[in-house]
Amino acid sequence: MAWDFETDSDFQRELDWIAQLVREEVEPLEHVLGSPWDIHAPGFKKLVRPLQRIVKERALWACHLGPELGGQGYGQVKLALMNEILGRSTFAPIVFGAQAPDSGNSEILAHYGTPEQKRSFLDPLLANDVVSCFAMTEPQGGADPQVFTTRAVRDGDGWIITGQKWFASNARYAGFFIVMAITDPEVSVYKGATMFIVPAGTSGLNIVRNASCADEEATHAYVEFDHVRVSANHVLGPVGGAFAVAQVRLGGGRVHHAMRVIGQAQKALDALCERALSRSTQGSRLADKQMVQERIGDSWIELEQFRLLVMRTAWRIDKYQDYRKVRKDIGAVKAAMPKVLHDIAARALHLHGSIGVSNEMPFAGLINRSFQMGLADGPTEVHKITVAKELLREYEPCEDLFPAYHRPTARAAALAKFGETL
Ligand SMILES: Cc1cc2nc3c(=O)[nH]c(=O)nc-3n(C[C@H](O)[C@H](O)[C@H](O)COP(=O)(O)OP(=O)(O)OC[C@H]3O[C@@H](n4cnc5c(N)ncnc54)[C@H](O)[C@@H]3O)c2cc1C
Repeated sequence: MAWDFETDSDFQRELDWIAQLVREEVEPLEHVLGSPWDIHAPGFKKLVRPLQRIVKERALWACHLGPELGGQGYGQVKLALMNEILGRSTFAPIVFGAQAPDSGNSEILAHYGTPEQKRSFLDPLLANDVVSCFAMTEPQGGADPQVFTTRAVRDGDGWIITGQKWFASNARYAGFFIVMAITDPEVSVYKGATMFIVPAGTSGLNIVRNASCADEEATHAYVEFDHVRVSANHVLGPVGGAFAVAQVRLGGGRVHHAMRVIGQAQKALDALCERALSRSTQGSRLADKQMVQERIGDSWIELEQFRLLVMRTAWRIDKYQDYRKVRKDIGAVKAAMPKVLHDIAARALHLHGSIGVSNEMPFAGLINRSFQMGLADGPTEVHKITVAKELLREYEPCEDLFPAYHRPTARAAALAKFGETL
């Protein structure tokens, strides 16, 4: 019997250490540095590299990975507790070697990479000597891979990739791209697509432009593959196996986003509470007004519900070690995440009044982030569909005219069972 909501004291000590480092050293970085993925910027070298060394010395580097890859193999529950602290700062994930999309890309390279691919791409990625890009979405659609057209055709001992990718995050900083391309158009995309590793700088790989979300830096690239040639040893995983490969990164990645969203929503809730206590209007503090209290209460309840769902999902991933068994849970977490962040950030924005809506506060950015969370790794609708489909698998249709829960039918069954006794 183990329904335990406590953290081991040893691990709590590590969490306290992480929280202090993030609060004091990492959270200020976003106010003086550019993109966390711009790892060759002078400011990054001066301010982030020393912090990464401290994290490595503390053995908290790349904790999403197993010990064979230099991580701690903590599992998802410990990772969730860590990630909700890291979510408070855009720089914290890279300080701890756990930033998307590199964390997911390192998982698939570890899982499917050949020894040579691991040497050339995984090792430098794990050391954060390079960052990487995952290019799957295309301009004509992302939610439905059946509209993808980027093609790879065999050319002697290699492949030639032609097509366009859209919203490929951090392409401008990436040392290499993991790209999904159709290798067999005769079959369903789910069986006819393959993953390729394309090093940055390969001839024909061009960034058309970079888009930004709200006032963030423009890091989401529109990428053109104009007859990009890669050798056969740049195929990642089996030919035709792109979706099996993608699943390895998307399953974990979606939960890791959710863990970090807890930290972002908590930050908005902290601001909401502090402001409510600090500001007075019409003769009393905002905190004393019932409509404000309702918003604070709702925010806490929604965040705690979400956190429990995330923690239980993390626990189930650890328990089953099989993402297929937790598809419903991951879908639910992914679908719930944008709304929780949106609603709490919106309440914080509104309670701060004019300054809340301005660019002097983080709330408009957080609201935009909530919409990003509802799209990245698939839109909310698609994940709700997954939840519903998985749930419906647990039910059978009723063959009778009236179902067993129909009251007269239920009463007749109860009388048949208890009639004699009564
Ligand atoms: C911040 C951010 C980072 C991203 N990074 C990357 C990246 O690094 N690499 C990458 O490949 N992609 C990335 N993406 C793209 C992301 O995966 C896509 O945005 C997502 O898959 C949706 O595709 P789309 O934008 O083309 O929207 P569309 O596929 O056009 O969908 C638009 C809308 O249609 C509706 N919809 C779609 N399907 C259904 C359905 N079945 N039922 C009902 N309604 C539906 C939804 O409201 C959806 O939002 C990123 C996106 C964001 C926002």
